[in-house]
Amino acid sequence: MIDTLTIQTKRTSASRLPEVDFDHLEFGKTFSDHMLVVDYQDGEWQEPQIVPYGDMTVSPANSALHYGQAIFEGMKAYKNEQGEVYMFRPYDNLHRLNASAERMCMPAIPEEIFMQGLAQLLRLDAEWIPSFTGSSLYIRPFMFATDGLLGVRPSDSYRFMIITCPVGLYYNKPLRVRFEEKYVRSAEGGAGFAKNAGNYGAAMYPTKLAQQEGYNQLIWTDASEHRYVEESGTMNAVFVIDGRIVTPALSSSILDGITRRSVLQLARDWDIPVEERKVSALEILAAQANGTLQEAFGVGTAATIAPIAVIGYQGEDYTLPIPPADAFSYRVSAALAEIRSGNAADPHNWMVRL
Ligand SMILES: *Cc1c(COP(=O)(O)O)cnc(C)c1O
Repeated sequence: MIDTLTIQTKRTSASRLPEVDFDHLEFGKTFSDHMLVVDYQDGEWQEPQIVPYGDMTVSPANSALHYGQAIFEGMKAYKNEQGEVYMFRPYDNLHRLNASAERMCMPAIPEEIFMQGLAQLLRLDAEWIPSFTGSSLYIRPFMFATDGLLGVRPSDSYRFMIITCPVGLYYNKPLRVRFEEKYVRSAEGGAGFAKNAGNYGAAMYPTKLAQQEGYNQLIWTDASEHRYVEESGTMNAVFVIDGRIVTPALSSSILDGITRRSVLQLARDWDIPVEERKVSALEILAAQANGTLQEAFGVGTAATIAPIAVIGYQGEDYTLPIPPADAFSYRVSAALAEIRSGNAADPHNWMVRL
């Protein structure tokens, strides 16, 4: 990727890299040396800057803190055996960020600022990108309102930033989940399709209740009837029923996951039938009872595939079969890992070279 944008860069005087234990990385805890910061003022994006990672000051009346005008993205970059760095589907993240921005009355971030800012940040912190199997650099672009004004209206000023964290192999312990029939993550017509901060804050309490009952996560159901599957925790939900890949169709209450898109594309490439439609909790339980429910898993950038072992419904636990070695979830997870490491062809051009 060629630099077309000059980004003022202030390098750290003391890299924290020597202190990092790459064998024991806790997700989202260790941040690379630098971050990208771009402010939006007077109707325009200002000069982007790369500065040492660190705290910043905001007005106590910052409207993101009071009214939640804040959005984010989650994506990854990978270093292959030759030391080349590739980002996975970064334009998809840019487009989704801008869709979230529109829903929250925030300004769109121009492609040049996003892609050039990201590329120059990754180049500066290239040594932070791990290359061992299963590792990657988790990238967190985000934008928030910065007006210091308590009036309830869209902010006039915003800040867009990118911070990054090296992450190791994610151990996907099969999850215990349960259908949620009281609380909702988002409703039709709400902002569930957007990656806006408030969606996550509001999901924490029902998730905590489920965890107190011994589950890891919830399977969210629709807000009006609590009948249809929406998502699994903060991931999209996918089921394998009788050889078919079944997943809830996208709507305004479901986040359009890039891992979901990629998993469905690979299934179609392999001529496996894919059904994007309403999926009811009762259909899943009936399939479990008659032995046609082969697999259930969440899909998202952090874990890629998170297998589900047990599904709770109205106080009963339903156990899924242990997937065989050639199960779809294993195959698709391995195929994505091969594409990301550069060991397999990338027919859909998902990998973007730095
Ligand atoms: C980010 C997210 C996902 C997964 O999206 P990916 O692009 O695959 O990481 C799914 N559901 C919710 C609610 C999310 O926030």
